[in-house]
Formats: sequence, structure tokens, C-alpha cells
Amino acid sequence: MTGGGLLMNEKQRIVAIVGRPNVGKSAIFNRLAGKRIAIVHAQSGVTRDRLMREVTWQDERFELVDTGGLLGMDGDTRQDRMEVGVRAQVETALQDAAVAILTVDVIAGVTPMDVEVARELRRKGVPAVVAANKADVPERDAGALEFERLGFPVFAVSALHDRGFVPMMKAVIEPLPVVTNPTEAHPLKVAIVGRPNVGKSSYVNRVLRNERVIVTDVPGTTRDSIDVPFTVGRGEQARHYLLIDTAGMRKVGKIDSSVERFSHFRAMNSITRADVVVLVLDAEQGPSSQDKRIGAEIMEREKGCVVVVNKWDLEERTQRNYAPDVSRSMPFMAHCPLVFVSAKTGYNIRRSVEAIDHVAAQTQTTIPTGILNRTVLNAHQATHPPAVKGKRLRIFYVTQVGCAPIRIRFFVNDPRRVRAPYRAYLTRVLRENFGLEGAPVVLQFRARREQRRRKR
Ligand code: GDP
Repeated sequence: MTGGGLLMNEKQRIVAIVGRPNVGKSAIFNRLAGKRIAIVHAQSGVTRDRLMREVTWQDERFELVDTGGLLGMDGDTRQDRMEVGVRAQVETALQDAAVAILTVDVIAGVTPMDVEVARELRRKGVPAVVAANKADVPERDAGALEFERLGFPVFAVSALHDRGFVPMMKAVIEPLPVVTNPTEAHPLKVAIVGRPNVGKSSYVNRVLRNERVIVTDVPGTTRDSIDVPFTVGRGEQARHYLLIDTAGMRKVGKIDSSVERFSHFRAMNSITRADVVVLVLDAEQGPSSQDKRIGAEIMEREKGCVVVVNKWDLEERTQRNYAPDVSRSMPFMAHCPLVFVSAKTGYNIRRSVEAIDHVAAQTQTTIPTGILNRTVLNAHQATHPPAVKGKRLRIFYVTQVGCAPIRIRFFVNDPRRVRAPYRAYLTRVLRENFGLEGAPVVLQFRARREQRRRKR
């Protein structure tokens, strides 16, 4: 979880869905990605469709990419455009994907387009499986055999009826690069911050009391332990954490620790050290100006963040009703997951830890270059930035250059033409398409001459 170490061109755990229009690529995407992490977002439109989502399939994590709507070719049946589309789609998907799911229609049988997509995949040497979709009933399974001539293992599936995914996903996951549990060597550093009395200590104690949590007692750090290492789960699935600067937080029934209460310097220091920061709010009091200041500090330090609204047992309003208020008072944190908890009753404590994991994963997102460029290009075409001094901004090429924070570099004709509203628009587009909940996103603009455009 150390920032910045992104190796571009290295095959990631990315699975791309490709195929001709109307075979059900989006349905398959939704079927696989459907189990969305249940976190309330401060933003109003809670669930959005997007191109890329982190998927956990039987404890295997990977990024799933939907190339379908991306090229605006679904539903477009003109042959010439489709052919260009197929190539572009395959190209886009395969720049970074480790495996492709070639989706076909079992009812329609093999079409020339399917053959063409398969050929492109083979040419690029990308492992693939064929999802013979729309096999809603077992009687249709036999129709899948015909697709074996595409040269990849074929699985009869039904996105609509959730059939056939288990064996197919086994074949999809098998070729994915193995990553060692990222938290084993580098525990996820979590800082808990907030005003005095919002319940930080109570929250920490609750988290550590969970039956799946094992607090690792490191010799010499027991009583006044400042950093508390702990694990959730066992064996290979165990996730390792380090709670930063919990001094004064672990003593149950502590008396007055006003000296240890919110010390600005201390809190800022722990934010700086953390991978993910949990900002604790008091449900009854709602977001105060001090909460906003702390939130701004977290954003400024480009940290992953989860907002926890504690003392939810005392609040009578519904979460749906409450969330927009938080969003309104802290709009700059609207991308952060909001979890309502009670340190007193234990309500949602586990979910808040899931949110921490989710944000940690989001800060490590790598966006495939092809898809990134397509998305930005489409967004740029949809909304041109206003001309600055009569000149327009042109975007030539976009690439991700780092994680935690997610750094996206734009090569443009003139960086001075990028104004704040357009920057905000591009950030919004990235979040809408790639999720990145709670993850800091930094956009960099670099000048590049037009003639160098083709060189990568
Ligand atoms: P800290 O200063 O942020 O560490 O806050 P504490 O953990 O010391 O909690 C401040 C007060 O709020 C204490 O009296 C706690 O018992 C109370 N408190 C903490 N969490 C909750 C909660 O979820 N519900 C209720 N009702 N009270 C809570």
C-alpha cells in the first residue's frame, strides 16, 4: 500500500468483456459485478453504470471491464462501422487485460463478426473464453458446441438466469496473474480522526473487539500502544491492518484524557502516515465546521477516506435522508463512502471495515490506457471546454502514472487552457466511469506538440 509504485504495461488482474453488439455484454458485466458493495454514498445518484468495476468472485479479486457501450457501437448495425468498432474494441480491451470473455449469442449461432473478434484476440495472444450467452434453459446448451470453432474454450451461460458462470469463471480466473496478499508485507495503515467526543475511542474498541479480529500484540507496545496491528480473518484470506496513533483510544472506560483529545498536530501527522483515513462524525451533531476542516486536510494530503457517522443509535432520521446533508456540507468529500455506525451497539462496524478495504482497493486501481483514452475522448467530444483567449484545449493522450493517489496525466496542446470547471468535469467523468470511491484523483496536464501525438 505504498503509493506510486505502478508498473504500466504489466498485465493486471483485468478481465475484459468483448463481443459484437446485442449479445448481452452488459448483462454479463452486471451479473458478475452485480454484488455491489453496499455502502451509502453521499452523492445522490447512488448506483451508476460504469465501465470498470472491482469484482470479487469466490474470494478472487479482479477488475472487470465492459467495452460494450464504450465505442457507441451497440445497436449500430452498419457493417463498416462495426468492423472498425470491433478492432477498436478489441484493441482497447486488450491493452491491459489479462483475459477476455468473448461473448456470443447461442441462439444466433456463429456470425462473421464473432469470427473476426476471435481472430483479433488470437492475433493479440490474449487468453479468452467464449461465453455462449442466452442459454436460458439446458436445451440451449448444445448450441454452444458450434462456437468451439472460434478456438477458445466455450461455456454455455445465461446472464439473465444466472446459469453456467461457475465453470466459466474458473477458466477466466485461472490465467490471471497471481498477486500475493498485498497487506501481508505492508499492512494497511488506517488513521481514525475526528473531533473530541465523536466516539473515536469507542469505535476503535469496537473494531478491535470483533470476533474475527486478532490484535497482534507486539512486545513492548502493549500498554501505551500507539500503533495497533491487527488482522481480520485467518490463513491466506487474512487481511492485515495497522491502526495509527491510537494512543488513549484503547483504554476502556478511560477517565479524562483531554490532553490527548484532539491535538491538531497529532491528527495531521497520522493522516500523513495513513493509507486510508476514517473521519468520524457525530450523528446527532452532524458535520461541523471543524469536521469540514479535518476533511479538507485529508483531501489535501491525497488520502483514501471513509466517512463514518457514529452514534447512529441516537439518530431518528433515515440514512437516505441524512446522507445528502453530509454531502451538502462537505461537497469535496462526496466521493467518499459514508457508513452509519454505532460504536455502542456494534451496528455496521463490520461494514465500515469493508468500506476501508474497498477504498484501499480503489486507491490502487489501474485504469487500462485504451479505455481511459476512449472515455476521456468521448467526454471531451460530449462537452468541449470553453475557449480560453480564443483558443481551445485539445487533449492528445491520457495515461495513468500512479496509484494512491490515482494520478492521471493528460497530454494537451496548452495546459494553461485547463480551467477549474473543466478539471472538475474530467474528474467527475473518471469517477463516473471507473468508480474510485474514496480514492484521491490527481489530474496533471502536460504540454505536447501535435506532431508527436502518435508516438507512445
Ligand atoms: P473520542 O473522544 O472521539 O474518542 O470519543 P469517545 O469514544 O470517548 O466517546 C465520547 C462519548 O460518546 C462517550 O461517552 C461514549 O460512550 C459515547 N459514544 C461513543 N460512541 C457512541 C455510540 O455509537 N452511541 C452512543 N449513544 N454513544 C456513543
